[in-house]
Amino acid sequence: MTDFLRLKHWEVLATHEQVHGHRVDARFADTPAACLKCGADGALYRHGVIRQAVNDTTHAGKPVVIDWQRQRYKCRSCGGTFLQPAPDIDDRHLMTRRLVEHIEQSVLRRTHVAVAEEVGVSEGTSRNVFRAYAERMEARHVFQAPAILGIDALHIRGRARGVLTNIGDKLILDFLEDRTRDLVYRSLQRLEHRERVKVVAMDMHRPYLTVTRLVFPTAIAVVDKFHIQRLASQSLDALRKLVGKRVSRRRGAFIKRNRHVLLARPVHLRDEQKLLLAEWLAEIPELRTAYDLKEQFYDIWEENTEAGARNALHAWRAAVPPQLARIFKPLLTASTNWEPEILNFFATQGVTNAFTEAMNRNLRDVDRAGRGYSFEALRIKALFSHGVVKYRRPARLGLQRRDLAAKQLPAHLMPFDLPAALGIPLSTFVTALKQRL
Ligand SMILES: [Zn+2]
Repeated sequence: MTDFLRLKHWEVLATHEQVHGHRVDARFADTPAACLKCGADGALYRHGVIRQAVNDTTHAGKPVVIDWQRQRYKCRSCGGTFLQPAPDIDDRHLMTRRLVEHIEQSVLRRTHVAVAEEVGVSEGTSRNVFRAYAERMEARHVFQAPAILGIDALHIRGRARGVLTNIGDKLILDFLEDRTRDLVYRSLQRLEHRERVKVVAMDMHRPYLTVTRLVFPTAIAVVDKFHIQRLASQSLDALRKLVGKRVSRRRGAFIKRNRHVLLARPVHLRDEQKLLLAEWLAEIPELRTAYDLKEQFYDIWEENTEAGARNALHAWRAAVPPQLARIFKPLLTASTNWEPEILNFFATQGVTNAFTEAMNRNLRDVDRAGRGYSFEALRIKALFSHGVVKYRRPARLGLQRRDLAAKQLPAHLMPFDLPAALGIPLSTFVTALKQRL
């Protein structure tokens, strides 16, 4: 009977098998040597017993609850009282540490409801246990803010998720369930040395700009050029669909099948594709106009200066004829609303989110809808489970920390600074994500 729990220093007094699980009357037979309040030795005396119900891992597939007769102690020296400490018990959740670990590991494979039912706790308790674990992992991985920060979307499990990156070092900083302002704000607040951020590259998502202005008031916000250029291609494709309905069904289907000929930049086309393109554009004047507008828009990024690009952008908007204004409306609107951030590309030597774009391509084949377990579990495991974090090379403390430098230690006695955690390498993150999706 004593070995029912298999926990050191625990004495099982009785076990009761019930329909839904086991109840175990037990006590922890180890007495603290010194007072937990004042540290006095040999001043403790027993001061009653309280009963606590402590959840434990299952026994033969059934939940286990330990009815713990927990000793209370009082100290003769300081008068303080405290409950018997037990290393196997997690006091925050009132469960054994092994059950806490079991829940932390299980919620990645199953839903909170399923895990909770297995071990006999509430769904809320399962969530609380994982939240505490997530907080611990986050506290252990505090990253340094980068000079160039990326805020973008990652398409995972059927939805756009927020992703924060260190663009210069190609590292992941965070991965968020959605793209709300509050979630991004909280994530940015976790970064150390936020004053170091000089440039923030983002897609055209208004909450990102709001948060950026709030957290990094002096940083330059740049709209990623791929996101705005993509709208030009999408407008052309929208026209292609309209045109496809007017020509014969076979013709429409043929153009659709070969639409990359329209959407690609001409320099990437093979000779036979160029011939095809020339044929369509000669045949359908409206397509010609829209195609030229698409190309003219991409060409804005061939400009060398911000002023040149501004002129080119204004000229582009003026060149959209009234009959194509509806087709190009998303681009006309976005390029007006985001004009300063679009042109900041030229003021920042061409910062883009190409790194996140590459990540999206890499993850496209695993972007499938959810499997039930919580996003939070996926996030924490993908970010932190591999234990691979990129660190900056340690610098000498004398150059870093004024408080110690003020003591004027000779240089050779200066200890080394703790290395600064920068983020998670892309390959580590993608591997961890792919294993768990
Ligand atoms: Zn004491």
